[in-house]
Amino acid sequence: MTLKITRTLLDQLRRSGEAAYPHECCGVLVGEFDETGGKTVNTVTECGNTRTDSPDNRYNISPSELVRIQREALLAGHDIVGFYHSHPDHPAQWSATDLIEAHWTGCSYVITSVESGHAVLTNSFLLEGLEETKHFNDEILEVTAQ
Ligand SMILES: [Zn+2]
Repeated sequence: MTLKITRTLLDQLRRSGEAAYPHECCGVLVGEFDETGGKTVNTVTECGNTRTDSPDNRYNISPSELVRIQREALLAGHDIVGFYHSHPDHPAQWSATDLIEAHWTGCSYVITSVESGHAVLTNSFLLEGLEETKHFNDEILEVTAQ
């Protein structure tokens, strides 16, 4: 599968990770699913990381914020297509905790590694399977011109 995102939105998402450093940033990707299951991002919405206990290696988006974003997306004829967060001084790979806390099958989970305050790699992973069998697969992140 492919997640398409414009250079501008990708930069916005990566800058969020730099701004939140040394904590994790997190947010929601709103856009559209195409017929083949691929996705296009239309907006990147930064959320507050509610994990005050461990904000440098955990993230959580408040349910009320998520519900509001989903409502606005649906009203605009769009969907939540994914989520993003950053890994301060850790690789842009999903963690066991990321998988446990991921529940939106079919959605993309985009992770940016931020080393010493600078965004390095951004990777996308597709959550597939049922809750009991869920797993992440590498996904192509296609950066498009504006
Ligand atoms: Zn993570």
